[in-house]
Amino acid sequence: MPSIKNGADVIIVGSGFAGLAAAIEAAEAGASVMVLEKMRAVGGNSTISDGCMAAPGTEEQIAAGIEDSPELMYEDMIKAGEGLNYPELVRTVTGGAKKAFLWSKEYLGVEYLDRIDLFGGHSVARCYTSKSVSGSDLVKKQLARLKDLKVPVYTSVYVNQFLADSRSFIGGVKINEDYQYKTETAGFEKELLASQAVIVASGGFGSDIFFRRAQDPRLDNSISSTTKPYSTAEIIKECLAIGANPVQLSRIQLFPWTSPEEKGFGAGPGFSDYVVLPYGLIIDPKSGNRFINELSNRKETAEAFLKLGHPVIGIADEKGVLSANWDLSRALNKGIVRAFSSLEDLARHYDIDIQSLKNSVDRFNDMIEKGRDDDFNKPLLKGSSPVINPPFYAIKMWPKVHYTMGGIQIDVSGRVIDRNQRPIKGLFAAGEVTGGIHGACRLGSCAITECLVMGRIAGKNAAGAK
Ligand SMILES: Cc1cc2nc3c(=O)[nH]c(=O)nc-3n(C[C@H](O)[C@H](O)[C@H](O)COP(=O)(O)OP(=O)(O)OC[C@H]3O[C@@H](n4cnc5c(N)ncnc54)[C@H](O)[C@@H]3O)c2cc1C
Repeated sequence: MPSIKNGADVIIVGSGFAGLAAAIEAAEAGASVMVLEKMRAVGGNSTISDGCMAAPGTEEQIAAGIEDSPELMYEDMIKAGEGLNYPELVRTVTGGAKKAFLWSKEYLGVEYLDRIDLFGGHSVARCYTSKSVSGSDLVKKQLARLKDLKVPVYTSVYVNQFLADSRSFIGGVKINEDYQYKTETAGFEKELLASQAVIVASGGFGSDIFFRRAQDPRLDNSISSTTKPYSTAEIIKECLAIGANPVQLSRIQLFPWTSPEEKGFGAGPGFSDYVVLPYGLIIDPKSGNRFINELSNRKETAEAFLKLGHPVIGIADEKGVLSANWDLSRALNKGIVRAFSSLEDLARHYDIDIQSLKNSVDRFNDMIEKGRDDDFNKPLLKGSSPVINPPFYAIKMWPKVHYTMGGIQIDVSGRVIDRNQRPIKGLFAAGEVTGGIHGACRLGSCAITECLVMGRIAGKNAAGAK
């Protein structure tokens, strides 16, 4: 790695979607830029994400006959967020979503699967998954662009403090160079000066058990996380120390459809998201009953699971897998999704009363035939069909900490706001480290949208900020 320069016009903390988007825009605006990343590898949680992004009013939707608009996406986000979202930020994200999606395709060259998905809480299908079903595509394309723009991305550089001058301008950062996460080697300290701004894009704190438990005491180490183990809160704490205003830190999202039979996010949620939720059903193994609209948002679903107090079973059949056009091989090979030739076998494996399960599946199938869910009001998709075609596929589901909606306060220009509601000069932020966009519950695919929209805004405005 080249030796680190002493500073730049704009210094960016974090190399996920938000930090890299900000870096590109700041460099395009003519600023000298450097990106600092504490880990040896770049990309944070962005790189392990599914790479699925939400955008309304796209050409893809028009071609598929889906009516959508930024207003409808705004309403969906506010509904899921229980009205706790900062409306001006949601408008900025939904208003900029289509442009950000086009930017990812046309400017960066990201390719998407030929499908548009409807995930829980969205009222129409508006989610586009990158061809590799991974955020690493987008990260790689962002890095390639930064290489063209000659922006250095320094790894193993841990930012531990901000440099604030006497007029409370943020003038740079204190770092530990050659930091090694695995061996807990701190490296050596250095100060880097930012002549225009520092942009904080350090991601969420889903794996910071002390910090998350302080916000929500239920989220102790008995609940695992889908996030990288280094998703910790040190930068948020530094922001708070220099007066940034905290927003809704206790709003922490559990991803309901993960499997307790594997670590992290794993291979199971692809089956849950793309097959069970739209085309299948979820059963409480104790009663054998269906108990929820499978397309409810993450918060409603996770709360319903936690209320039951034990893992639940997601079920779909061969036809559902074909309708979803989803490749199950990885999840099947890992044994996270299991195939059964009959509902009897499935019931036996998960210890479900067979008659109750059959009654629930029959009732679900009647509802599909009728085209209306009188029990839970699940929106029925084109291609929905009765669950009668073996093999029957199933997954055990239990929530994991997935995303932190809360963070530091920003305005629509990406400036960090202090506890007296004034911008902190020279400090910008974007991505999961910020709070207020998703309120009580983030809808699936909206994080990438947010990172690109707000990252680009922060980058543009940071260049020339002083
Ligand atoms: C498994 C998984 C799947 C997901 N799938 C989707 C999806 O399909 N669609 C969607 O919209 N959202 C998804 N999300 C959420 C989304 O991926 C994240 O919210 C988003 O990637 C966050 O991007 P970011 O740039 O804010 O932070 P990150 O990508 O987490 O990057 C932050 C970076 O900052 C670095 N950093 C932190 N502290 C310091 C420090 N002190 N010094 C230097 N560097 C530091 C970190 O090491 C990290 O690399 C998923 C999340 C997970 C965990």
